[in-house]
Amino acid sequence: MKIAIIGAGIAGLGAAWLLHKTHDVSVFEAAGHLGGMAHTIELPGHPAIDTGFTVFNRHTSPNLLALLEHFDLPSIPCDFSCSISLPDPPLYLSAEKEFPLLSNSFSPRYWKLRLAIRSFWRALPSLRCSDPAKGVERFFKQARWSEDFIKHYLLPLAAMIWRGTPAGMSHFPAARFLDILRSLHLSDPTAPSSSADPEWFVLSGGGSLYINALSAPFRDRIQLNTLITDVIRHRDCVEIVRKGGHSEQYDHVILAVPCDLARSLLSRLSKEEEIALSGIHFEQKDICLHQNTDLMPPSRKLWTAFNFLEAERLHNAYITRWINRLPSFADRGQNYFVTLGAPPPKQDLLYKTSYPSPQFTGNTFAAWESLPNIQGKQRTWFCGAWCGDGFHEDALSSGLAIGEALGGELRPWSLEETSPAARYCVSK
Ligand SMILES: Cc1cc2nc3c(=O)[nH]c(=O)nc-3n(C[C@H](O)[C@H](O)[C@H](O)COP(=O)(O)OP(=O)(O)OC[C@H]3O[C@@H](n4cnc5c(N)ncnc54)[C@H](O)[C@@H]3O)c2cc1C
Repeated sequence: MKIAIIGAGIAGLGAAWLLHKTHDVSVFEAAGHLGGMAHTIELPGHPAIDTGFTVFNRHTSPNLLALLEHFDLPSIPCDFSCSISLPDPPLYLSAEKEFPLLSNSFSPRYWKLRLAIRSFWRALPSLRCSDPAKGVERFFKQARWSEDFIKHYLLPLAAMIWRGTPAGMSHFPAARFLDILRSLHLSDPTAPSSSADPEWFVLSGGGSLYINALSAPFRDRIQLNTLITDVIRHRDCVEIVRKGGHSEQYDHVILAVPCDLARSLLSRLSKEEEIALSGIHFEQKDICLHQNTDLMPPSRKLWTAFNFLEAERLHNAYITRWINRLPSFADRGQNYFVTLGAPPPKQDLLYKTSYPSPQFTGNTFAAWESLPNIQGKQRTWFCGAWCGDGFHEDALSSGLAIGEALGGELRPWSLEETSPAARYCVSK
């Protein structure tokens, strides 16, 4: 069969990897690089740095771990320590030394918040939400958790885990959210004791190494800098239209792009496609690789691997990853940061791009439920991190599930428990 795959992120590449030996596969990618958000930047005079996907949790990434083992690519432990800096009046929660800060120790709000945080992590094993569609904010409000805890701890923490925004996380289905926190084996990552967490890993050498290994056998089937503008579904074929108007016919199409982009490429959507593709909105957010300490907490004592700053003067919140916390960067003489969501710093900027950041909506759960029903209908298949919980593993696992469903090779490993994306993606 002739199969078009739109998007060369890990979801599209995962599907192509299983399909390329048995089918005539063409992969179209709008950007000039492979991997989508698995994107390693190599600048002269600087080390290679990942600006998107970087860390993964060993409990929740079975396919990624199996794939790395398959290619014999090493990963190394890293920490998932977090800090939260709040303005007006300044208050800091940090896996590093927050006690030396006088502003914290004299703040009743700080102690109240710490108490709520401790109660939350103690309660987590038994917290349950019976309505699978209820969002995080609504669930915690109804369970009478304080507004300060929800707005200034829980949602910022969720934003750091999902690389989103607190507002974008408020509608994430609470039941799934609690399950994920439990399965990540996190204990409060803003508490000093959890700064060296062995559950998290980073790819040695950067994400591009594994993207290149995976795509090498079908590299000649991938067309970079090729924006697809329309997918027209006919009864006996699918027509793929590129920017400029050139079009080709295929037996099937796999849309490995964020769901709202998939929606905009298609016409005559079925009712179920409307539901399945409108559960998550994506906002294009600036990502900067830089060396400017202004986007970090004010005191170096507070710096952790992930730093959330609610910035008064920017009227916004942003997240900065301190690259030097990765084991291979620890001894670097200079600091490297990757910031999501802030305007690029005027000084010490090394690289700037933007990625789609997920904004979960009240329809997210309904969309996940509808997804298996639309797969393969009208010769159209969907994969991507949005099919599951939004992590890199979800993107990979959904791509592999579609590759297998379309008659590609089976993945060369077996799993006892598959990732959520595969469950949502195709019905068993
Ligand atoms: C800053 C940031 C950091 C992250 N860090 C982590 C992390 O540490 N761990 C983790 O598990 N997850 C992380 N994530 C999430 C994870 O990286 C992504 O969810 C996952 O990599 C997405 O893969 P994907 O294949 O679904 O989509 P993408 O990687 O977005 O790939 C989609 C591809 O489709 C292409 N495309 C879109 N439209 C078109 C079109 N019309 N024509 C042709 N091509 C098109 C895009 O250019 C893109 O390359 C992070 C996300 C962000 C934003």
